[in-house]
Amino acid sequence: MVQSCYVCKINSKNPESVDISFHRLPAVPVKRLIWMSLLGIDSQTILPIGIRVCSKHFRKTTVTV
Ligand SMILES: [Zn+2]
Repeated sequence: MVQSCYVCKINSKNPESVDISFHRLPAVPVKRLIWMSLLGIDSQTILPIGIRVCSKHFRKTTVTV
């Protein structure tokens, strides 16, 4: 299954994505809002279910799965 990043649109088929991992936004609303804020997505934006963002938008130490 091809995964793609909501923010930068890179997908898992792209050769540049070799070192990138894709992360689903948290289902918990509070955490989700924090992620959206960090990603520069307006909190009023209605996001499609199951969107993912790639690890380029996180420091390694902040990524928790
Ligand atoms: Zn990305």
